[in-house]
Amino acid sequence: MRAAQVRRTGGPEVVEVVDVEEPRPGPGQVLVEVDAAGVNFIDTYHRSGTYPVATPFGLGLEGAGRVVAAGEGADLPEGGLVAWKQAPGSCAERVVVDAAEAVPVPDGVDAETAAALMLQGLTAQYLCASTYPVAPGDVVVVHAAAGGVGLLLTQMVVLRGGRVLATTSTPEKAELARGAGAEEVLGYEDFAARARELTDGEGVAAVYDGVGRATFAQGLDALRPRGTMVLFGGASGQVEPLDLQQLNAKGSLYVTRPSLAAYTRTREELLERAGAVLGWAAQGRLSVRVGGRYALEDVARAHEDLEGRRTTGKLLVLPEG
Ligand code: NDP
Repeated sequence: MRAAQVRRTGGPEVVEVVDVEEPRPGPGQVLVEVDAAGVNFIDTYHRSGTYPVATPFGLGLEGAGRVVAAGEGADLPEGGLVAWKQAPGSCAERVVVDAAEAVPVPDGVDAETAAALMLQGLTAQYLCASTYPVAPGDVVVVHAAAGGVGLLLTQMVVLRGGRVLATTSTPEKAELARGAGAEEVLGYEDFAARARELTDGEGVAAVYDGVGRATFAQGLDALRPRGTMVLFGGASGQVEPLDLQQLNAKGSLYVTRPSLAAYTRTREELLERAGAVLGWAAQGRLSVRVGGRYALEDVARAHEDLEGRRTTGKLLVLPEG
């Protein structure tokens, strides 16, 4: 079968699409025919070595597809559509998924939509429901609001009765953020001052920041007293160490650096969050924008586009082209 692999870390050019032996499901695992694999920023951190992974490794974590074989003790029916956020090597024609990670896809949700929601959708859900639980009337900043996490997070904050001040880098992306429910779209250069103006000097309840290095410091100035900085990624680079005394000086702020793994620690928690997100999609309450579809052979181009800031919404790799 064909699979995207990384033998040495580096730029998008190190991604190779090669013939490999089909993997076999072990106990508690299933073999899945991949209909759609999700492309995520974390794939670029793995490829570049920002997050170290032993080489060689199969690229991709997320996807959706049909179960073709089940290992001993894996209680999932053959032919059933499942989706997952964490199966290394998902950018391939077939992949082995731990049954504990595989979520049955409900009726009314297709494979592309499910693949688009497992990593970015569950992240958006835990960020606004658990990390800083948005209350009705809360004003929050969502950075990169036209991105994969951003478009979903904006919609989910609005579903909870919150108000979103978004940042994006282009007028087209601003339009998408507004379409997702953002009340105002701010420029990156002065978003903290604008957020204060728009909240009568008070500041916002939370900043959801997946951009990192370029936005973090200014974000602390956008927060109200006892506000929460949710740093969940570093699309522009990793944040410098923080002098904790700043949190005192700026009004008893909270800072957290959450990860999806810590918010889906049990099968029960995974199914609860996935059930909420896939349920909203099935009911038409959450709109999923697929901003790019790529053939398996073009996965390096998907990385270039994502890192080059040229994308909106979700990027999918379709192994069958
Ligand atoms: P996006 O689709 O949001 O793409 C990244 C966006 O970040 C770009 O489109 C761009 O939007 C913005 N950006 C700002 N500065 C830069 C820069 N210098 N280079 C590239 N992009 C920049 O990606 P994802 O939705 O996949 O991920 C968003 C963030 O969420 C990432 O940091 C990722 O690591 C993180 N993440 C964290 C998780 C967690 O649990 N902690 C789980 C999933 C994702 P614009 O042009 O509008 O500025």
